Amino acid sequence: MSEDLETSLFLEYARRRISFEYDNEEMGELTIKILKTLIERNEAIPDETLALILGTSATEIRRALHVMHRIGLVGLVRESTDQYRYEYKWFLNKDFIRKFLIQHINNVASKLMHRINTLSTTTLYICPTCFRGYTLDEAYEYDFKCPRDDTELVQIDASSEITFLSNVVKNLRREEETK
Ligand SMILES: [Zn+2]
Repeated sequence: MSEDLETSLFLEYARRRISFEYDNEEMGELTIKILKTLIERNEAIPDETLALILGTSATEIRRALHVMHRIGLVGLVRESTDQYRYEYKWFLNKDFIRKFLIQHINNVASKLMHRINTLSTTTLYICPTCFRGYTLDEAYEYDFKCPRDDTELVQIDASSEITFLSNVVKNLRREEETK
């Protein structure tokens, strides 16, 4: 299967995010297998079918799917099989991936904007040993020394970091506009 850029970005993000959530690289690989299968099938399928295709236990597949769904990496539809029963099916397509990426870019951009605001309104100090940050008030209180390891605190060069972060936000917004 040849992947376009959006799909590769999405899969790479999913692999890292799931490996991180589980603290387990293998779970990240299973996630990729599930997501790739869903893209290839291009239709909503139940978890039992996924388990059969991948030769993995349905329990494990289901567990992975629920985590992915919570993060918003897969779509879930409920179809009624008869009057009383429902069947749950999972799907992933290009539209879904695009929407996810746009939302992710927006989240990152707004977090960076928040960081820029914090930097512009507070003087921040950092400990070069443990990298903990301090406000000006805290730095005064601790006599400009880190209470953890007694290292002299250094002032963060806010203006250069603001310039850097502003450029990142600008690039993200540009990327979003071309979608
Ligand atoms: Zn420290």
